Order: sequence, then structure tokens, then C-alpha cells
Amino acid sequence: MERRKFTLGLTAAAAAAACALKTRQTDERPTAAIRPDKPTNADRVLVVGGARLSVAIEGTEPSLPRVVYEAWVQKSAQMIADYYGGTLPVPGLEITLVTNGRGAVGYGHHRQGRWITVHCGRRTKQSSPDGDWVMVHEMLHATFPNLPDRHRWMQEGLSTCLEKVVRARAGDIDAQNVWRRLCGSMHYGRPRMGDRGLDRTHTWGRTYWGGALFWMVADVELRRATGNDKSLRDALLYIAQQGGNAREVWDTGVVCEQADAGTGTTVVSQLYEAMARAPGDVDLDALWAELGVVRYGDGSVDFDDRAPLAAIRRAITASG
Ligand SMILES: [Zn+2]
Repeated sequence: MERRKFTLGLTAAAAAAACALKTRQTDERPTAAIRPDKPTNADRVLVVGGARLSVAIEGTEPSLPRVVYEAWVQKSAQMIADYYGGTLPVPGLEITLVTNGRGAVGYGHHRQGRWITVHCGRRTKQSSPDGDWVMVHEMLHATFPNLPDRHRWMQEGLSTCLEKVVRARAGDIDAQNVWRRLCGSMHYGRPRMGDRGLDRTHTWGRTYWGGALFWMVADVELRRATGNDKSLRDALLYIAQQGGNAREVWDTGVVCEQADAGTGTTVVSQLYEAMARAPGDVDLDALWAELGVVRYGDGSVDFDDRAPLAAIRRAITASG
């Protein structure tokens, strides 16, 4: 396998940009001490990809009919099940939509592969939940093993990166949207001065976008190493087949072992050594160029299919 070159440090411009960061991604860490009240108004159970999803609506001011909220839950789960070959790799979820408040689709919380809460205030419109990423992000947490606190970046990064890929593969967003968002924010995940690697640097940027960078590079490197035959999806499918979902607590060593076993490579474990145990940086400008993602000053992107890894870029968001 060809190894990427990693370099220490971060440009001043990227560091300054990180200071201006704004986000809605604030879902909290599952802990054994937190168990939400069991929903009492879940009057319908959806079955998606073999998983039973109960939907409770809490709050007195839902801005949409229940059927719209349920359709959002169902579609989000179905997109993930499709990514996993038709099966949602968790037995079931109790989903609570909190409809009080002035906002639109806002904060989400996932706990222990069992409970998801998403706030959907009065500004939630029909086009909003249907096109929103929060439910997919939270559900993806349920499909991946729980990890000790210091490895939270691995869980948040996976949901941050994979939400876009899952939705693109399902046709919910287009490839330009995916790469525009990845290009627009991935630099927040690079190590800054004094960084000690993803396992020991718990800033927002490193947790969400550093983790996303890890998984995106893993996907690219898996495809590069195998001629586009194996990918992050093969690693995650294998982890799911070994019973790895958020009802289980795994060690990252086991995650890396299983990801390697599922792909017949050592890509994920090597990347873990470089980026989690050390502040391995990624030359993003070079990576975007290799993938054929052309960025413009207004934040939009276009594609160059003559780029050396253009086929890999296309495969990442390809449907099916
Ligand atoms: Zn999250």
C-alpha cells in the first residue's frame, strides 16, 4: 500500500479560520448515567432494514403532521440501510422528536444505540426535515460501536463524513453538495500547533472534522490500495457483521483490526497510528487536486475528471 505523506503543523490561515467556526453539531456523548424517559406517545413502529423504529413526538406545537415526521425518520433510516446492503445494523431505536421551541431542525442526541432525540421547533418546514442531515447523523452513531471517551472523534467524525456520502448514494443530495461541504469545512480538522493526535486533542475541530478527515482519507486510501475494489463501506459492513453497533463498547484497536480484516488491508490501522497516536496532517490541497475537486472563491466546486483519482471521487458518492 502506498502511504500518504504526513506533515506536522497547520497554516496560519487555517488556524484563523478555525476561530471563526460555527456549527450546529453539538450532539452529546452517550453515557451510561443518562437514560431518557421512555417515550409514551410512540403510537407507531416503523420497520426499516429489519430494525424497529418507534417514533414519539413530544411537545405541544408540532408544525407538521405526524406522517411527515415519520416519513423523515423512515427515509433517513432507509438511506443508511441501503448503504449497509439493506440492513440497519441495530435492532431498533426509540426516536423522540421534540417539537417545542422556535427553531427548525436543531440539536440531536444519540445514546447507546437505543435512543435518539432531535429537536424540531416551530420553524421546521416540510422541506426542512426531509432535506436535513441531523437524523442521518444521529442514526449513523447507532450503527457504529461505542468507544471510550478519548476516541469520540472516531464516532463523530464517521457521522460527519458518512452522512453526506450516505445521502449522496441515495440521491438525497448531489455530489457537488457533498464535496462543497467537505472542502468547505475539512480544514477545521487539521492539527494545529501543539496537537497531540486525535486521541489526545479534544477540540471541536479535531473531534468532528479531524474525525471526518480520518475516515475520508481512509476511504480514499482503501480505494487507492485496492484499485477501487474495497472501501470504507466494506470496513463498516464487516464491523457491523461482527456485531459492532452502539449497543456495544469496543476498543479502537478492535475497530482497526476489524476494518483491516474487512478490507484485506492495513490501511485503517496505519492511518490510526499516523493520525490518532500522532498529529499526522493531510495535504488537503493536494488531496482535492488528486480527486479532481476544483474549488472556487465563492465556495462552490466543480469536477475535473482527468485528475488521477477522479474515479475514486466518483465512486465515493455513486448510487447503489
Ligand atoms: Zn454526532
